[in-house]
Amino acid sequence: MGHIKTGAIVLAGGKGRRMHSKIQKQYLELAGKPLILYSLEAFDRSFVDEIVLVVGEGEVCAVRKHIIEQHHLQKVTAVVEGGQERYHSVYAGLQALQNCDYILIHDGARPLLTEDIIRRTIQGAMDCQACAAGMPVKDTIKERGSSGFAVRTPDRTRLWQIQTPQAFAGPLIRSAYDWLLQDESRQRGITDDAMVVERYGGPAVRLVEGSYGNIKVTTPEDMAVAEALLSLQREG
Ligand code: C5P
Repeated sequence: MGHIKTGAIVLAGGKGRRMHSKIQKQYLELAGKPLILYSLEAFDRSFVDEIVLVVGEGEVCAVRKHIIEQHHLQKVTAVVEGGQERYHSVYAGLQALQNCDYILIHDGARPLLTEDIIRRTIQGAMDCQACAAGMPVKDTIKERGSSGFAVRTPDRTRLWQIQTPQAFAGPLIRSAYDWLLQDESRQRGITDDAMVVERYGGPAVRLVEGSYGNIKVTTPEDMAVAEALLSLQREG
């Protein structure tokens, strides 16, 4: 991509409580490698110029040594500590990243990231400033009321489940996050970066296809699914 500078923030600052494991999920072995290494390698192999990795409190030195140096990742320029919520971790990543024309933000818990997905997401950001990967939902989705009854069934043909990476014009995502961090009342219920841009009043977020395989490893059974998907990816 020539002179256009692209950076990636990979998030691994979560506690991973739903994994019920002693080892943090991002360092669990998946087919013989730490889970976090997969998406880092995907970015390292891609056209991205610079990668910033965000980790949990007190983990910076160990991760630098056992993940970055040991596996010879070339493009990781910083490993920084995240914060309480996901958006605090993203903000820490933005501070550590140099000025870039485009910035990708990715959950380290999604090891099945591919170069194709990175490419489609960046292209969306180049066309529309803000872009998120996702896929049409397969199941019917209902809103469940507090008493345990279905209260609403939105039209399934219009619904997408949203993944990462999400990609943005650099100045846009920096302004949106600066705005978010200025006032706690703006932060309620924020779960992804596209939502920060939406709440900020930025441009409409373009949705492009990720893949059904691009799962987020959250609970123990997801590790088995991820291993199976990885071996499929290798065969393909
Ligand atoms: O919690 P959630 O599943 O949305 O986390 C998505 C990603 O964000 C994970 O890769 C997790 O490590 C990261 N995260 C973070 N800092 C937090 C919370 C989550 O970096 N405070």
